[in-house]
Amino acid sequence: MPALRNAGLYINLLNDFLDLFYPRVCISCNTALMKNEQFICYTCQYHLPKANFHKNLEDSIIRKKLLGRVPVFGSAAYYLFSKKTGVQNILHHIKYKQGKELANKIGYWMGEELLQTDWFKTIDGLIPIPLHPQKQLERGYNQSEEYCKGIQKTTDKSILPILSKNIYTKTQTKKKRYERWENVKDNFILNSDISTLQHIALVDDVMTTGATFEAAHNTLISNGYRGKISIITIAIATHLI
Ligand SMILES: [Zn+2]
Repeated sequence: MPALRNAGLYINLLNDFLDLFYPRVCISCNTALMKNEQFICYTCQYHLPKANFHKNLEDSIIRKKLLGRVPVFGSAAYYLFSKKTGVQNILHHIKYKQGKELANKIGYWMGEELLQTDWFKTIDGLIPIPLHPQKQLERGYNQSEEYCKGIQKTTDKSILPILSKNIYTKTQTKKKRYERWENVKDNFILNSDISTLQHIALVDDVMTTGATFEAAHNTLISNGYRGKISIITIAIATHLI
């Protein structure tokens, strides 16, 4: 198929040409990417701090953070997050710069890791933490759902987008603006009956205090869910432990 081969050659030439004027750079360290690198350079991929507790749950920072608040079965995070690091650049890109594909890619890598654990095998579905509808409209995607899609590529687990934000409740109208926001930000609604499921994973981009997971957990429990809950994030904040 010489015509196809020629088309491939032209595409390569075009990419080289574009790289010359619009160099693709590593989202973590901002240096130019090599031809085979995508989003994150090999050096950063190797050196960025990985959370790595999915195989040894006794060391899970997610579990430690939620101790006494939420019973966590399995847990996993791809990166350890601290400010002014490449991981912060990655999270920023995913949130504000059309980082849909990157969230998906990290999900793919996380999925490869998760396949090596026993606790992940029994998961019936991945539940992405929802965004505020207005925010989702502006951004055009929910990064947690994109992360789920990447995990799904490697693990074939179902994605259950069944949580939504509860943005209008009667009691909030009387509250002051800040209190109202505090009340709203982690208030969820479950849109489907999952009481027959045995094991689900809540999935978010980054965990800092754990308040979001606590609220999501409470929503599931108050709606009759009695199965196991695991937690998977792109990154876990190492401060505030
Ligand atoms: Zn880099």
